[in-house]
Amino acid sequence: METYIMSLDQGTTSCRCILFNRAGEIVSVAQKEFHQYYPQPGWVEHDPMEIWSTQIGVAQEAMYKVRAGYQNIAAIGITNQRETTVLWDKETGRPVYNAIVWQCRRTAVESDRLKEAGHAQAIREKTGLFIDAYFSATKIRWILDRVPEARELLAQGRLLFGTIDTWLVWNLTGGKVHATDYSNAARTMLFNINTLQWDKDILQWLEIPACILPEVVSSSGRFGVTDSSIFGGEILIGGAAGDQQAALFGQACFAPGTAKNTYGTGCFLLMNTGTTPMYSQNGLLTTIAWGIDGRVEYALEGSVFVAGAAIQWLRDEMKLLEASPDSEAAAESVCDTAGVYIVPAFTGIGAPYWNPYVRGTITGISRGAGRNHLIRAALESLAYQTCDVLSAMEEDSRVSLRALKVDGGACANNFLMQFQADMIGVAVERPPCIETTALGAAYLAGLACGYWKSKEDIIKNISVSQRFEPKMDQAVREQKRRGWRRAVKAALAWAEEEESV
Ligand code: ADP
Repeated sequence: METYIMSLDQGTTSCRCILFNRAGEIVSVAQKEFHQYYPQPGWVEHDPMEIWSTQIGVAQEAMYKVRAGYQNIAAIGITNQRETTVLWDKETGRPVYNAIVWQCRRTAVESDRLKEAGHAQAIREKTGLFIDAYFSATKIRWILDRVPEARELLAQGRLLFGTIDTWLVWNLTGGKVHATDYSNAARTMLFNINTLQWDKDILQWLEIPACILPEVVSSSGRFGVTDSSIFGGEILIGGAAGDQQAALFGQACFAPGTAKNTYGTGCFLLMNTGTTPMYSQNGLLTTIAWGIDGRVEYALEGSVFVAGAAIQWLRDEMKLLEASPDSEAAAESVCDTAGVYIVPAFTGIGAPYWNPYVRGTITGISRGAGRNHLIRAALESLAYQTCDVLSAMEEDSRVSLRALKVDGGACANNFLMQFQADMIGVAVERPPCIETTALGAAYLAGLACGYWKSKEDIIKNISVSQRFEPKMDQAVREQKRRGWRRAVKAALAWAEEEESV
């Protein structure tokens, strides 16, 4: 009988289910988007019940497409949008409020309060993170403060917290298992990545009761089994990891110094730094990559907020493109950007500049600059931003990459990949399956049940479908990067004016 690993990929805009075979190939896929709620500017919510029903719907659909029953699924792996926060009643399973999404800025005030109380340094040392509304901690506080039902349930010992992995595991197991994995715990800003415990000090500073927190378990192990009413029989839940960490695993970045860059809406560059957490001097986050069999490995993470979203902007707002992939031919149709640089800092700029006041700028426009130059400049901005993060990472880790592994939707763009290789001066490697996030979760689950025997077994599956070697002359590369730095400086200068008015 054929068996597969089922990967549940719960993303920010859609739920996906992919079934993988032993070769790490996709056997079946189903995907469905769900609603985004924006109750106020800067606020983002999801309906946890819709996430659950959509996720189960796509799981059933993916199984049905290949006529698989529960007996054909060796294990389930979960990967999820990180930091997004749900609180629910353990008696009824009903959420007390919508899920507050990682992008949501509503707890900026709570975050500032923590900073003003002088906790920034301690929180950085304990959690590896900068205090920010992005992480779960202040979102939990917000719900406890604003939702009376949450406080009532807490008083009755009925309130539970979870990130989306926890919410799915709890529902999949019929409410029997309340657990999260190390990588997701590390994104709550409540988990001490050194002691590997929920941090009592931070819980006290935020007045968050420990009784609502899930148990932290191995990213690859026996979470529990699905309630048999869901798939007609029990299936082992064998692994979970946050989306970016899962992609790192899916790219087999098991050795310290190996890294991957995901080109999606934003870009996320993660480097495995081995068994000791490495703290950045250049604005990168320190996070847990995964914990397996009591051994925790860490990663440095640099995020670029706007990457593929810049291409979407050209398509949806500027109407310069019909579809994102068309950007490749447009960029190739000109030999350069005619001196144009786009800094797509629509929501501020992240590592290594960290300035929330910066906005997008276009510099160097001359009379001859046209549509294709602008499109090319937007694509090049993804590569320049990645370069900046990579330089910060190499400086922090003192590791020089031998090659950059890539994934995510926009890595399909050959122009971008070649330009990226040219800018970083090392090869860019694209795998045949760019669904590395889902694949990483599948690998974690498959290792737990013996579907794959070891990491070596997984490495055998890894191949490079295309390798982009750097071709550009060093002097040209440096001249282009100098231009980019000038453009960023211009964007920063524009923000300084705003701050000083
Ligand atoms: P996410 O998981 O963040 O939703 P995906 O990995 O699905 O994102 O990638 C989608 C993003 O990549 C979109 O922002 C889209 O504009 C961009 N994109 C997709 N294909 C291409 C392409 N061929 N060239 C450039 N950008 C692309």
